[in-house]
Amino acid sequence: MIPGWFDGTHLLGTRCTSCQAVFFPPHHGFCRDPRCEGEELVEERLSRRGTVWSYTNACYPPPAPFVSAEPYVPVTLAAVELERERIVVLGQVKGLAVEDLRVGMELELTEGTLADGPSVWMWGPPR
Ligand SMILES: [Zn+2]
Repeated sequence: MIPGWFDGTHLLGTRCTSCQAVFFPPHHGFCRDPRCEGEELVEERLSRRGTVWSYTNACYPPPAPFVSAEPYVPVTLAAVELERERIVVLGQVKGLAVEDLRVGMELELTEGTLADGPSVWMWGPPR
């Protein structure tokens, strides 16, 4: 689990109290929107569902520091546009293969374990 980014059920972002823009990963300090002078960003749990914006499979292991399973098992990745916030969050896909995915289909946030042990957010079929 990545402290401060994912609490096991929700991604954690920050929302600017001036312009309502949402940031993920969570960002503190000044609002990143150059038109906004907001300086207060509050933590917020983000939508658990979204729609596929793009997807692919990774047939070759990513470079270090990523630790791959031996032998390497290709993974599926999806960029998902969150239902409310309309921002796109990349994640590994669990329970669906690349040929199961379509742009615009709904996915739901879930949790999965990487080869070297950490538990992270992943995208899976809606439950
Ligand atoms: Zn702002």
